[in-house]
Amino acid sequence: MSNMYDFILKLPEGSKKVLSIIQKYGPIGRVELIEKTGFKMTKILRLTEPLEESDLVLRLGEGSSTGGRKPMLFDINTKKWFIAGFSIATSKFSVSISNLKSEVIVHKTFDMEKSIDPSEYLDISISAFYNLLEEKDIEISSIIGVGISAFGSIDRKKGIILKQSVSYLSEKWVNYPIVERFEERLKLPAALDIGVVGEMLAYHLYNEKYNVDNLVYLSASMSIRMAVISRGIIVRSTNDSDDALGHMTVKYDGKKCTCGNYGCIECYSTVAAITSGYTSALKLGRKGTINKEIEEITFIDIAKAADEGEQLAADIITEAASVLACGLANYINLVNVDIAIISGLTVRYSKLYYEVLKEATYRRIGLLSKDNSVEIASVDSSADVFTRGPSVIFLDNLLENQ
Ligand SMILES: [Zn+2]
Repeated sequence: MSNMYDFILKLPEGSKKVLSIIQKYGPIGRVELIEKTGFKMTKILRLTEPLEESDLVLRLGEGSSTGGRKPMLFDINTKKWFIAGFSIATSKFSVSISNLKSEVIVHKTFDMEKSIDPSEYLDISISAFYNLLEEKDIEISSIIGVGISAFGSIDRKKGIILKQSVSYLSEKWVNYPIVERFEERLKLPAALDIGVVGEMLAYHLYNEKYNVDNLVYLSASMSIRMAVISRGIIVRSTNDSDDALGHMTVKYDGKKCTCGNYGCIECYSTVAAITSGYTSALKLGRKGTINKEIEEITFIDIAKAADEGEQLAADIITEAASVLACGLANYINLVNVDIAIISGLTVRYSKLYYEVLKEATYRRIGLLSKDNSVEIASVDSSADVFTRGPSVIFLDNLLENQ
C-alpha cells in the first residue's frame, strides 16, 4: 500500500480539512483560508506543517504585492504526488494519471469491445498505465492510489460491479471484484464509484458555477444516467445504480424495456432509441433526406438532418427529448434542484434535442410551481470529465470520506 495514502488517512482531522480546502480552492490566501476553515491563522500554520513537510502543499509568496509584505498563498504541490485513474464505460475505457488537483496529465483511451472480458481489460489497462508512467517519467512510488469509475450498478463498499448497464458486454463483468483486482495488481489502494458520479463531482467540486447544494447531473447517450447532490450530499440510489431515472415509467402501456417493465424513459430517449425509431419510420415509408442505406444511418446523421430542417428527424428527436423532459420534470417537481446539468451524446450532437428537453422541462415544472428557479445547463461532457472522474472519486473518498 502507498505510504502517502496511509499518511493522509492518519493526519489529524484539522490538517485533513486544511488539505481538502487547499486542494479545492488553491492557490488560496490567509483570509480565505481562515474564512473557509474557521480556524485562526496560528492554528492553520501548525496544521499545514505536516502537509508542507510531506510535499503535499506548497507555500507561495507570489501574490500581487502592494509594497508591504507579500501576501502568503498556499497551494497543492502538483509535481510530487499523483493518482492513477481508470474509467470504464460501455463504449470506451481510459487510463490516466492526474495530479493532486485532479488535473489529468496524461491519458489513453480505448474502445470497449464486446469480446473484452474483465481480465483482458485489466491486462490492457495496467500495461497502458505503466507505459504512461514511463512516458511522463513518474515513479510508481509517487502514485497515492487508484480511482475507478464504472458503469451500471456497483457495491461501493465491496468494490464490485454488480451488473451491466447494457446487455451487449461480456457476462463476466457481472459481480466482478474490480477493486480487489486492481489492488492486487498495483499494490495500491483503490476507490470505486459509478462514472456519472465522478463526472458530476468533477463539475461540482472544480467549477464554481456548479458548486451548488442541489445539483442534478443527467447524461443522455447510449443509456440515460443520472447523479444527484442534495443539500451538499451525494444521493445514492439502490445499489448505486446510474440508470434509476432511465427506468422511470413514462408510458405505462408503452414499449417493453430491457429491465422487464414497460414504457421506461430508456425505451424512447437514448441514442439507440432515436436511431431505431428513425429507421423504422423509413421502413414504414416515411420520407427522409439522409443519403445512406438504412442500416448505415447513425444518430449523428439524424441529429444533423433535424438541425437542417428535416421533418422526420425533427419529429423523432422531439419525441425522444419530450419523454426525457417528462422524467426530469417529475424529478424536479419532487425535490429541490438549483441546477440541472445535461450532458451526453444526444445534446452534444443535437441542438434540437437540448432545446426541446429544456423547454419541455421548464413548461412542465412551470405548470406546478411558478417560482421554481431551477437552471438547466448543457455541458459538453466529452473526454475531459470522463478521464478526470476516477481521480476526483479517489480524492473525494480520501479527503471527505463520503
Ligand atoms: Zn426499464
